[in-house]
Amino acid sequence: MGFDVEWILLALGPVFVLFIALEAWHYRRQGVLAERFVLKDSLCNLALALLHQGADKLAWLLVLPLYHWIYQSHRLFTFDNGWQSLLILFLLQDFLYYWFHRASHRVRWLWAAHSVHHSSTLMNFSTAFRQSLMYPVAGMWLFWLPIAWIGFPPEQVIAIVLLNLAFQFFVHTRAIPKLGPLEWVFNTPSIHRSHHAMNPRYIDHNYAGVLSIWDRLFGTYVEEITAEPCEYGTVKPVNTFNPLRVSLTEWFDMFADFRHAPTLKGKLAQLVAPPEKAEALAREKD
Ligand SMILES: [Zn+2]
Ligand SMILES: [Zn+2]
Repeated sequence: MGFDVEWILLALGPVFVLFIALEAWHYRRQGVLAERFVLKDSLCNLALALLHQGADKLAWLLVLPLYHWIYQSHRLFTFDNGWQSLLILFLLQDFLYYWFHRASHRVRWLWAAHSVHHSSTLMNFSTAFRQSLMYPVAGMWLFWLPIAWIGFPPEQVIAIVLLNLAFQFFVHTRAIPKLGPLEWVFNTPSIHRSHHAMNPRYIDHNYAGVLSIWDRLFGTYVEEITAEPCEYGTVKPVNTFNPLRVSLTEWFDMFADFRHAPTLKGKLAQLVAPPEKAEALAREKD
């Protein structure tokens, strides 16, 4: 294998930096740069991206043998490298991404990792860099196993997962308005802005990776409206720009609530219940 697919995101680094610069330049011309970009926030995002890349490479190193074993010994189908196969690969992974993302908001164990992505109160291209180094611990890698089982080689699985994430970089901005008919099919900046908003209208909607059709199909689509401007961030703010504290704070909170829960059922709920339900349970005991 010549070019190692695991380096797709780092290879795209210069493109990402260019778009961040263009966005900042655009906001400066509009006179809104200071409220839409905060250097400490962007630097924290960058540090989180690098930590995530490190953890992600390590995780693939560990789980790749499992992927190879499932692909080589247990795959259901054998695909060629034609465009039909690649289309199936894309649709399958984007579908699984939708469920991974939805579960990441509704199961506290997964939210502990994913909340990092939502904990900035800003929404700009650098927000896309906000990823968690804890995804491998949360078990994100489990969600892609069915792709190898159905019959796609592990290298293609890694490539499509990373390309999906790369696409999502471009939906993290307030600079791009609604995109007409594209909104019907694709995840767009408008759709993803609503996803990052904590207003009751928007929270826990729009889990799309590349295609927004899954949200429309499974009842989680919400439209961004001017009457209700997005308020970015998490209901429980992190209040820090320290990347390690950002990465770990929800894990510490979760384990503290786990320890304090008096019954086994209560402890289990702290790990698997929706985040707001788990926290309400924890408050009940205080
Ligand atoms: Zn999310
Ligand atoms: Zn996002």
